[in-house]
Amino acid sequence: MSLKFSVGDLTIHRIIEQETSFVPALEMLPGLTAEVLAENRAWMRQAKALDEQDVLLLCFQSYVVKTPHHTILIDSCIGNDKPRPRPKWNMKTDDTYLRGLGAAGFAVEDIDFVMCTHLHVDHVGWNTRLENGRWVPTFPKARYVFARQEFDHWTEQNAKAQVAPFADSVLPVVEAGRHELVGNDHEIGDHVRILPTPGHTPGHIAVTMGRGKDDAVFSGDLMHSPLQTLYPELSIKFDVDPAAAAKTRRSFLERYCDTDTLCCTAHFPSPSVGKIRRKGNAFVCESI
Ligand SMILES: [Zn+2]
Repeated sequence: MSLKFSVGDLTIHRIIEQETSFVPALEMLPGLTAEVLAENRAWMRQAKALDEQDVLLLCFQSYVVKTPHHTILIDSCIGNDKPRPRPKWNMKTDDTYLRGLGAAGFAVEDIDFVMCTHLHVDHVGWNTRLENGRWVPTFPKARYVFARQEFDHWTEQNAKAQVAPFADSVLPVVEAGRHELVGNDHEIGDHVRILPTPGHTPGHIAVTMGRGKDDAVFSGDLMHSPLQTLYPELSIKFDVDPAAAAKTRRSFLERYCDTDTLCCTAHFPSPSVGKIRRKGNAFVCESI
């Protein structure tokens, strides 16, 4: 399995926490019909995107990117010791994630920036870890970059009723003074930019990297299954604004279609990374 990619002057590592069955395809994608699922079942099973019970298989991972100047971690996965409704995530204590980070050659002190494409539970988990009964930043030297619009959205939600991942994985970073709230014009050095991609959440961003051009793009949750490149109109039930998510998905896929940009998805099955190519009136993410 490919865990490391090089493109331009970037080195990209995948840190996998789980690759597992998630939610039945017909439930996760409310616009999906049994007929369309049947037409796509064979290749999806082959690609390990669908299991024998028609449940979607997803990868949960971070990307760690070395630019010539910085080491940047994108999306911090699920985390440990956190009460979560999903049994596979609830109060887990395994060392898979930190072991994966170590195997890629990184200590937690090596991360200069943590960036979150959005503030959902499986993208903020390792922002913090439990130390003497308190949530502390896992990456002690990192600046944590949050999109201001996304942060404001969850601040508002959390004021109405506590949002656990925001409370245990985002606010402790703020309390430790390690965060930066940024607009969509924010850049880090000459290698890292933000691409607003609203829909899944209101302030969802993709992160583009490369000097002067997008050698790689980290697409976060603007899509979850390779089925959505073929049917960009299919939004998932967790998309806050399904119509906006569908529009964002098609324009993102069109933007990178037939370019050399490496598309690094958050949740596609391994290898999770590929180049967007046209197929009929839609797209595929072709492994490299
Ligand atoms: Zn996600």
